[in-house]
Amino acid sequence: MRHYTVKMMNSFSTFKCLLCKYSVTTREFNSQNGNCRTQAARVMNDHAIAVHGGPRPTSLYDAQPWHVR
Ligand SMILES: [Zn+2]
Repeated sequence: MRHYTVKMMNSFSTFKCLLCKYSVTTREFNSQNGNCRTQAARVMNDHAIAVHGGPRPTSLYDAQPWHVR
């Protein structure tokens, strides 16, 4: 479940949090450490857990209207 959006730019990608203005770009990572997109995705996951208390699969609420019985 992704909780960020990915925007393709000319030579890099911007990963933006769905819940706040936090964002990172693949330019911030060194490809020598691995795939920049993978590193950015990991940072976004860590951000969501640290700042927002974990991933929030909002689509789950749409798919399962548990409050309607
Ligand atoms: Zn955020």
